[in-house]
Amino acid sequence: MADGSLVPAVKTTCPYCGVGCGVSGVVAQARSLAVSGDVAHPANEGRLCSKGSTLGATVGLEGRLLSPMIGEREVGWSEAAGLVARRFSQTIARYGPDSVAFYVSGQLLTEDYYVANKLMKGFIGSGNIDTNSRLCMASAVAAHKQAFGADLAPGCYEDLDLADLVVFSGHNAAWTHPVLFRRMEAQRARGQKHVAIDPRRTDTAEVADLHLALAPQMDVRLWNGLLADLIGRGAIDRSFIAEHVNGFASVEAELAQADQSPAAVAADCGLDLADLQTFFQMFADTPKTVSLFSMGANQSAQGVAKGLAILNAHLATGRIGKPGACPFSITGQPNAMGGRETGGMANTLAGHMDFAPDDVARVARFWGAPKTSPKPGLKAVDMFEAVHDGRIKAIWVMATNPAVSMPDAGRVREALAKCPFVVVSDCMADTDTMAFAHVKLPALAWGEKDGTVTNSERRISRQRALFPAPGQAKADWRIIAEVADAMGFGDAFSWARPASVFREWTRLTAFENLSRTLNLSGLVGLSQADYDELAPVQWPVGADRLGTPRLFTDGRFQTPDGRANMMPVASKGPATACDPAFPLSLNTGRIRDQWHTMTRTGLAADLWRHAPEPFVEIHPEDAAAVGVTEGVLTRVQTVRGEAVAIARLTDRQRRGGIFMPIHWTKAYAPSGRSNTLIAPSVDATSGQPEFKHTPAWVRAYRET
Ligand code: SF4
Repeated sequence: MADGSLVPAVKTTCPYCGVGCGVSGVVAQARSLAVSGDVAHPANEGRLCSKGSTLGATVGLEGRLLSPMIGEREVGWSEAAGLVARRFSQTIARYGPDSVAFYVSGQLLTEDYYVANKLMKGFIGSGNIDTNSRLCMASAVAAHKQAFGADLAPGCYEDLDLADLVVFSGHNAAWTHPVLFRRMEAQRARGQKHVAIDPRRTDTAEVADLHLALAPQMDVRLWNGLLADLIGRGAIDRSFIAEHVNGFASVEAELAQADQSPAAVAADCGLDLADLQTFFQMFADTPKTVSLFSMGANQSAQGVAKGLAILNAHLATGRIGKPGACPFSITGQPNAMGGRETGGMANTLAGHMDFAPDDVARVARFWGAPKTSPKPGLKAVDMFEAVHDGRIKAIWVMATNPAVSMPDAGRVREALAKCPFVVVSDCMADTDTMAFAHVKLPALAWGEKDGTVTNSERRISRQRALFPAPGQAKADWRIIAEVADAMGFGDAFSWARPASVFREWTRLTAFENLSRTLNLSGLVGLSQADYDELAPVQWPVGADRLGTPRLFTDGRFQTPDGRANMMPVASKGPATACDPAFPLSLNTGRIRDQWHTMTRTGLAADLWRHAPEPFVEIHPEDAAAVGVTEGVLTRVQTVRGEAVAIARLTDRQRRGGIFMPIHWTKAYAPSGRSNTLIAPSVDATSGQPEFKHTPAWVRAYRET
């Protein structure tokens, strides 16, 4: 401060990945911020990665949307909310509740998610609210539900410290969850071993003890082969199976349908036999094993099967609910878990429930909302297809950028262009999606929001405001509540502050014993002061408010008989095979220093040094075959579209595969928007798209 007095640090949470690091922020002057890692936060103990460290460079007002707008006209809130309410109400009256939709985001806080879900499912009466977390971990959610009876992530970050073996299955933790990766790297000094299963030699794979560069979409074959090998060598836990697991016999029968010899598995997966056998031996010998799985597993037309194959290996060996032993789905977004909790997904109700009639009735009673939707809504890919074909006539996009981030993004842009009414609420004024908005609503950004998020280990942490709201920007939950009020639902949306929303949400989890899995009863009735001071805590949270680090420690699961389910899964490979016209497997993903569509990380100059332009990684032999050389502008084409990027030749890329980052937008490099190339093939159960494999070809740009 100018007078030299100390400015108190505000403890909040990083808005980027699902690690959920605690951040300590000191506001030096207006819109200027110094950040450091919060040493008291259990997720990161003071560490931050490059993205978290540069948060201070992202809090300026450049590019912000600061007033509601109808078209290009600045308006007041009552006019904007009134128009949104009127158009949604008219559409519902004429075409029914399923003619409208919300597409929301893992960037929303839990309070925002709760209010959006309450409005759509409870008061509009449609299930048509889905989240961009559908693109992130929907497959893991479905696998958890089938195996455990509910969407429950069993482990905690302490397990990563305690494990003797960590298997990274489709998870480039070094780039996507850097603070967790450093935490595990620190354990290697005492002998922790790392195995990376990934078609690319990522930074995680580069330093692992063993890298299995498997062929695209062969994960189920690999994990089934591992389980068969464990059974064959007597390395499973038969007493754990007998006491706690159903389905082992049917899984054994499924395994018998294919040749599970290591030689056959290695051949199908494109792996060296000795490497595969080394992995099998390491897994068999190491009771304290954690298997991390992330986008490489989830973003697949076989995403649920991949997750189940991983869970099967852990259930068969009893490696769950014990210190240092669990399967562990790591979420991409800061509050993907919060969306799962509050019903931000089209196929779930709040509190981790499905649409069972009794559950719908209890939620409806709690909300006083007799029109509560009795059925799920459309998942993300189907939702935008319904916009495209006119079934959905009004959509509200909150805090996300589907015009870039969805698969077949060109078709999503077509859908938004012809949708009769598009509302976008966002903190930024000029996103690719905002360009299609009839009404633009200014939302608070990180550093201004106040509420809670939940990270990958089920830890609820506070996001706290460091700056006052700029211009006319408002919290997402408040914007939704104002529209709800204008639609005539005001009594049920009349909270004064986020703590009031949080109190209602926690009461719901305990209402009529409503949520058997997600009990927050220990947080019911928090005072404003308790909410303000809330320390990070892992759910379920009972009366002692100590939280629950590890689930299933007693071997009891959330199924009706308390036993976990091993589920038979067969390897099917990619949804669409490569062919002579499109011979290469296109894999897309994140890079180390950017986040999603760069609306925030793009503001930090330091983060551009790592990768200043869109690129495509190609194996040198594949590049030579089509005359592509290092650094040339290169066309990448699929049946869905074309992108242009700089060629990077590297033997880190498996032959027959190419890789492109997902981040570029119209603001930075419109021709580099890689998701335009991705086919909207989805997992039949989870609805998660197959971002990790699309048949493609490449050519040097000059030749075409
Ligand atoms: Fe932590 Fe993830 Fe933020 Fe990095 S991006 S500081 S790892 S929460």
